[in-house]
Amino acid sequence: MPSFYVTTPIYYVNAAPHLGHAYTTVAADVLARHHRQRGEAVFFLTGTDEHGEPVADAAHAQGVEPQELADRNAERFKALAPRVGASNDFFIRTTDPQHEAKVQEVLARVRENGFVYEGTYEGWYCPRCADFKAENEIEEGNRCPIHHVELVREQEESSFFKLSAFQERLERLYAERPEWLAPRTRYNEALAFIRSGLRDVPLTRHKLTWGVKVPWDEEHVFYVWFDALLNYYSALTYAPAPVTAEPPGAANPVSPNPVPGDPNPAPPNPAPAVAGSNPAPAIDASTDLVSTFWPPSYHLIAKDILRFHAVYWPALLMAAEIELPHRLFVHGYLLMEGEKMSKSLGNVLDPFAVIERFGADALRFYLLRDVPFGQDGSVSTTAFEQRYESELANEYGNLASRTLAMVRRYRDGVLPAAPIDPALASDFEGLAEEVSALLDRAELTQALDAIWQRVRRLNRYVEERAPWTLAKDEQRAGELDEVLASLADGVRVVSLLLTPYMPASTERLLDALGAEDRTLSAARLGAGPTAPGNTVGELEPLFPKA
Ligand SMILES: [Zn+2]
Repeated sequence: MPSFYVTTPIYYVNAAPHLGHAYTTVAADVLARHHRQRGEAVFFLTGTDEHGEPVADAAHAQGVEPQELADRNAERFKALAPRVGASNDFFIRTTDPQHEAKVQEVLARVRENGFVYEGTYEGWYCPRCADFKAENEIEEGNRCPIHHVELVREQEESSFFKLSAFQERLERLYAERPEWLAPRTRYNEALAFIRSGLRDVPLTRHKLTWGVKVPWDEEHVFYVWFDALLNYYSALTYAPAPVTAEPPGAANPVSPNPVPGDPNPAPPNPAPAVAGSNPAPAIDASTDLVSTFWPPSYHLIAKDILRFHAVYWPALLMAAEIELPHRLFVHGYLLMEGEKMSKSLGNVLDPFAVIERFGADALRFYLLRDVPFGQDGSVSTTAFEQRYESELANEYGNLASRTLAMVRRYRDGVLPAAPIDPALASDFEGLAEEVSALLDRAELTQALDAIWQRVRRLNRYVEERAPWTLAKDEQRAGELDEVLASLADGVRVVSLLLTPYMPASTERLLDALGAEDRTLSAARLGAGPTAPGNTVGELEPLFPKA
């Protein structure tokens, strides 16, 4: 039974959720939903990183305990996932006692294996990064290259992690498994860092108390990055087994509650499960999630945390004798264009404002449509509105409404049982395989584009075949049947493939088409419902015009 395990970074609890968090979460969700459609066992993890100096400092400034601040802020990130329609199987917090115990256990093993020693560390430290800076990366004026704040000279007794011992093994990893880190620019960047010579890094902090206690020295806590990275592993040791018995195509197994003001709420009753149509494997609670899901299929991260994931993380796993993840994918930044302004959204692309006004599906679509996943690119409220209007409302929403309306008008709502037009069939040939292959490489934008080309093909098909003309001629009834059957089935296929991107709206459309099989194997022309007398249901506009 194939399994798929995808993670987002755990989000630092001191920040407020913003577009970047929504972006990574949505991307991971698309992969998770796609692999569930493939009938695989899937585990999708997100969560919060709660230790370290910045949280302790912020708590003290507010006169509260760090735990209280972490509890309060973690809720905002927990709420983010259902708002963007994410189907995460678990939400980890690094203050979970089970996580803390696992961190202590794994790092004690790293020490037993001979990769930890005692020493004194002195260096330039950025309190915002919670990290010491190497001499060659310090910015002018002795500042942090990321935060531009003045660095502090710090010296303390520490346990050190022998990162330098992994120089050769890391170089070999990059040589033998070039697919392990994508895109290529990030691979090159990480490899160059490794080749420049790895120095040992502090594993513990003495001055801090807000962290996981070091079992061999209770005066110390683990450096927050080691604690944080281990979440990907620890989660599988105590998370409940994923709920796999969801009805096929259920839009949002995590939060069935519609978002207030969402113009595209999910229907209150998801389609009932049909025996034999849902291949999702059953994982009972006693199953060991580590043996099912480790190593991770994909860690998705943004480029600012590349070094920790591409260098420290594999070295740490090697030191603990834990198998390495399959792939790491580094996405770019979404840059705001301040000078453009849309009427309904102002000039800042606030994910929550977009969801409030246009629904989570529209946000999900736009984030993966406009900027190729893996690259930096500009996003803006005007570009969002253009895509919404021209692609979601016109090209897709209108195609769906028209198709259902013609089946109702010309065939009393009964989907004709006619063969698929070969001219259309050839343009859909191999589409599901193409999309799967692209998503296997985390090419989320290219996969979406491949599907969208078929949405456009269907719109051209309507214009070419002009069903309204065929309907005027009784002699051409067979031809009209073929056109309507082909069109409805084409809409079904693109919607199935779009389900990971836009789960709520595609579910409504697939329900209206009576398409019960929501698996990827049904995403080919001619595999649609063929029961005689299969009638189409009602469908409110999927993407109402603003
Ligand atoms: Zn910094």
